[in-house]
Amino acid sequence: MHLVITLFLSDHIGLQYTNCVTVHWQLCTPLSATQPGKNEITVKIKKITPHLIHGPQPYMASAGEESGTVRPYIFVQVETDEGITGWGEVTNSTPAHNAAVTSLLLQSNDLIAGDDVSHIEAIWHKIFRAYTYMGSRGLTTSIISGIDIAMWDIRGKLLGCPIYSLLGGPVRDRISLYTHPNGGPSVAGIARSAKAIAESGHTALKTDPFPQTAEERATPYGFLSGQVDAATENVGMETIAAIREAVGPDVEVLIDAHGRFDVPTAIRLATRLAEFDIGWFEEPVPPESYPALRQVKSEVPVPICVGERLFTRFDFLPVLEEGLADFLMPDVTWTGGITELRKISSLAETFYIPVSPHDASGPVNILAGAHTMMTVPNFYKLETMRADLSAYNAFIDHPLDIRNGHLHLSDRPGLGIELDIDYLKANAINVAT
Ligand SMILES: [Mg+2]
Repeated sequence: MHLVITLFLSDHIGLQYTNCVTVHWQLCTPLSATQPGKNEITVKIKKITPHLIHGPQPYMASAGEESGTVRPYIFVQVETDEGITGWGEVTNSTPAHNAAVTSLLLQSNDLIAGDDVSHIEAIWHKIFRAYTYMGSRGLTTSIISGIDIAMWDIRGKLLGCPIYSLLGGPVRDRISLYTHPNGGPSVAGIARSAKAIAESGHTALKTDPFPQTAEERATPYGFLSGQVDAATENVGMETIAAIREAVGPDVEVLIDAHGRFDVPTAIRLATRLAEFDIGWFEEPVPPESYPALRQVKSEVPVPICVGERLFTRFDFLPVLEEGLADFLMPDVTWTGGITELRKISSLAETFYIPVSPHDASGPVNILAGAHTMMTVPNFYKLETMRADLSAYNAFIDHPLDIRNGHLHLSDRPGLGIELDIDYLKANAINVAT
């Protein structure tokens, strides 16, 4: 039987997908197996290629954005010596981060090219520790995330299985989503968009209702005083009042504060928002200070959510131990990939804290989070940056299957999609390396 299976695999690897259980036994090579036995194969990482690209038009505008904004994405292509390619994503919000990630991904070839793709955990730790004196979280975990997701994609393709089947199997059959209204900057436009989201079957939506202050406009992505003027605050309250009226009492309205506020401002805004029965107040203060978060958490009458700027289980553990949040929202493309998202979720499970993965990027982020959450008992909802994600169809071969506010995963191997390499090359953004 042993030999028969080996011949079967040798004939088909890279050509078609095979039975998961049968092939899995073949691909589990020991870490020290520099000379695999005759019944084993070793698939090695051949090349890592980051693709920093301009996204497709039209890009749906949301509150405060110009319609037609071109969104950049970073996808990670991991090629193997057996011809199987895996895809990851590391898209971030800032051009500076995108450029740094792209450069470091290129350099990661020196670190892990030639490594066995079945050793996902070992490669995770190899990269994590390689940059320890620079800081093993943030930029480092972004690199890890893109490569880790791609390696799980490769593993699924090699074994003929969707990723969720490799993580313990599904505990649910679909992924509940929440998304964002657009139509801004007018309050009426945002409320109309929120109503449309509710009518599409989504049971939750999220927005940052507070317009940028003059101080913030002067410093993109900046935080200086963390204070807002009365007019800005009142626009935010008016917006949430209009959304609540538009969607009724049964739709969750989540507030993203984007870490914009100091402690007294965050406490005041969250307390005022409580009258609208908000589902959570997200990142009330910048992510660096757990004491600030602790003070806000102890003084507001609404649930708190944090996590898109926390990296690895090491950042999440004190949040859980000190009871600083009611919901966690790790980003699978920033916090350490599928491997780490699964560990953070298990850690949260021991505190009975729900996990609601963050998305502010592209389709690989959504799918990687969804595959992981298919196996996580304490999953809450998965974020999608927009309700209509059809723009992604310009560069993925299978549209995301979203119906009635839920994402349905296919049984195709790996993530279940391929990216259009011609599109990626044609829309490349060059950065200095
Ligand atoms: Mg957020």
